[in-house]
Amino acid sequence: MNWIKKALNFGQNIKRILKKRPSKKDIENSDWTSCCTGPILKKDLESNLWVCKACGKHHRISCVQRFDTFFGKGNYEILKTPIPGVEDALNWTDTKPYKDRLREAKKKTGQDCAVMICKGNINNIQITAAAINFSFLGGSISSSEGEAIIYGVQHAIDNKTPFVFFTSGGGMRMFQSAIALQNMTRTTLAINELKKNNLPYIVCIVDPCAGGITASFAMLGDIHFGETGALCAFAGRRVVQATVKEELPSDFQTVEYLQKHGFIDRVVNRKDLPSEIGNILSILLKKDNTVESGNLNATSENIEQITKAAS
Ligand SMILES: [Zn+2]
Repeated sequence: MNWIKKALNFGQNIKRILKKRPSKKDIENSDWTSCCTGPILKKDLESNLWVCKACGKHHRISCVQRFDTFFGKGNYEILKTPIPGVEDALNWTDTKPYKDRLREAKKKTGQDCAVMICKGNINNIQITAAAINFSFLGGSISSSEGEAIIYGVQHAIDNKTPFVFFTSGGGMRMFQSAIALQNMTRTTLAINELKKNNLPYIVCIVDPCAGGITASFAMLGDIHFGETGALCAFAGRRVVQATVKEELPSDFQTVEYLQKHGFIDRVVNRKDLPSEIGNILSILLKKDNTVESGNLNATSENIEQITKAAS
């Protein structure tokens, strides 16, 4: 039966071709990525702050890339954050041990955890800044990330600087269950300490920001910025649609939609974030003398007035 042999050989050839396709790792390590017009060189995208010139899409960036675009390369200092002794207290295994996932994420991103803290200068104002890397296990928050955030807040309090947080990520890390979930409370209490010390807390929502992150420290800012096109949600769109049984608008759960409904104060392009956040901080810090004097009073009542003045 020649035709059967031919058919089997054809199948084997297709399998061989499919096997030769580049892996996810190959794509990550290549000089190329893709956007609306097809393949695009990463260095071309980087020269425009990782924003597509054709469609304006703000591509996701790592913590270092975030600090580079915000402060300028070399204009900031990364702060070493503490890592808890035990990172896998539950010894969790599903399709793969959590320990292995963690090791791979650290190797892939070069970070100890998803959160990075740095100190830098904008408009001659000393700032403590934090960012979350979505490539590190979906930017999820475990005890390590919680420690890093608390360390950053403490640094801001000790040095009397504003705290600027570029929040993104899928929520609390379920491999750590309740240990991860308690970081919603811990980070909320930390942010509260920042406010007790009259220090501005500026949040910038970047793509994608969801789950327990949106339900805790990402929604506690004195002023909320959103980076153009970023997704910001608690539950996913399909879950909401299945629950309310209504057709949702196309821009549902984008920062632009949330601005229209009062959740976010301003939506800003990546290139404008340093000047916009710098302006707001200048106004906040001039309002009642300086932060050093401890008289700053950025209450929610005057935030609307401040954002209007900055525009
Ligand atoms: Zn594009």
